[in-house]
Amino acid sequence: MDNSVASSPHQNLHFVLVPWLAQGHIIPMIDIARLLAHRGITVSLVTTPANLTRIKPTADRIHESKLPIRFLPLPFPSTEFGLPAGCENIDSLPSKSLVLNFYNACKALKQPLMDYLRDPKTPSPNCIISDFGHPWAADIAREFSVPRFVFHGFNCFAILCIENLTIYKTHESVPSDTEPLVLPGLPQRIEISRISRLQLPRQFQVSQPYEEIQKEVRESEMGADGIVINSFDELEVGYKGLLEKSSGKKSWMIGPVSFINNGSKDLAERGNRTLIEETKCKNWLDSMTPDSVVYVCFGSMGSFGPSQLIELGSGLLASNKPFIWVIKSIQNPEVEDWLSENFSDDSKCLIIRGWAPQAMILSHAAVGGFLTHCGWNSALEGICAGLPLLTWPMFAEQFLNEKLVLEVLKIGVSIGVKTPTEWAGEVKDDVVVSREEIAKAVETVMDEAEEAGGRRRRAKELAEMAKRAMEEGGSSYVNLTGLIQYALDCQSVKNVM
Ligand code: UDP
Repeated sequence: MDNSVASSPHQNLHFVLVPWLAQGHIIPMIDIARLLAHRGITVSLVTTPANLTRIKPTADRIHESKLPIRFLPLPFPSTEFGLPAGCENIDSLPSKSLVLNFYNACKALKQPLMDYLRDPKTPSPNCIISDFGHPWAADIAREFSVPRFVFHGFNCFAILCIENLTIYKTHESVPSDTEPLVLPGLPQRIEISRISRLQLPRQFQVSQPYEEIQKEVRESEMGADGIVINSFDELEVGYKGLLEKSSGKKSWMIGPVSFINNGSKDLAERGNRTLIEETKCKNWLDSMTPDSVVYVCFGSMGSFGPSQLIELGSGLLASNKPFIWVIKSIQNPEVEDWLSENFSDDSKCLIIRGWAPQAMILSHAAVGGFLTHCGWNSALEGICAGLPLLTWPMFAEQFLNEKLVLEVLKIGVSIGVKTPTEWAGEVKDDVVVSREEIAKAVETVMDEAEEAGGRRRRAKELAEMAKRAMEEGGSSYVNLTGLIQYALDCQSVKNVM
């Protein structure tokens, strides 16, 4: 993409981006910042010192390229809110019981952001795009009389389902957590017999601990001027109109925003530094035939207990396909022993510990399938790479994303998981999916036979559409133009009021 922004009509604009402090939100927000900056808009992106350290290579490259993006590392008071020192990202929470502490600590970003925006050296803001996890951003928008758009990091289908469940409360009339539930207000009756309350985001469960958060978030969402979505019109036909009707808000699909990463460093260092050398990973992939490798990754937060890890590894080995397996953390001698017994010098698999260069891996022609936890960024990145997906949803809205992938887009195979997995310190040591089920599902998704071919063909067609959507004149390109214009119109109205 061209970095020259000198002649842009938007040169005097300043947008403020406030991502939720989680990898799945920070990463697409940086991409959105770059898309806006390519239109000549100055962007201030709120972050914290520990998060800035992770994204430093990206921030440095942006700085060198002279794109007008300012990274704002605002102080994050972890210890004051009962969090471990340096815990500034939701993926570092030692226990789920600290979610409320983390949420409250985020509110402390408000004052330093306010101070920065009041500083005469800071250009006046024109618009805020803030994550739904930061309802306090509404106060900033009010203070500076600028429009505020909400970003969830979800696709349109999931936002629509959540909105409709909030309105119709269908989940409340289901007698038990395991009883089937039909998602309300959708144009087609999607086969959702396996979905139950347990598979819905936490706010729809009977004993959900985040009521206080939900109330604030909902109020703030209702006061927002619109919804920004990392997806594209052609992928989710019909849902945008329904969402606008249900929510009463305008929405803009401006993605897949990951397409802005097209240099090899951008792809290899997206979101964090990796321990694996870029060349080692690339050489391994180069040695494989096209479409042969299964990539296995559960996002920034998905993890398993020792038994499921060993079961997963055994299933992958039994499938007899080459694979890359990303393991976030192990901390268990039994698993370490098992890994060293089963994986040493095996050229058919590559294990990546910690952060993987996912964008780089998915863009390689050798990768032919993606076993994913259905975090929306990962699922969409898989779609952009034209890959059939093997779906293993874990928590949050991921079961809804699975429905989109399997039943609307028809580009996936389910691994068969029916209940959510815990995260942080609450991960259990149980086996949810057996090695036989894993091996069979991998074989199915990688199969060359008729049905697999259909999935692969559809996935490749969607990838083409995704690319076109982001090109100049494509739907997402045009939607971003519309969003910028709407923000300016909204600001004019607010200034008159
Ligand atoms: N990601 C990555 N390397 C990893 C794990 C994740 O680059 O080892 C990136 C992935 O490409 C995606 C984001 O982190 O952009 C994860 O977001 P997603 O919505 O898929 O899942 P979450 O982490 O929010 O559950």
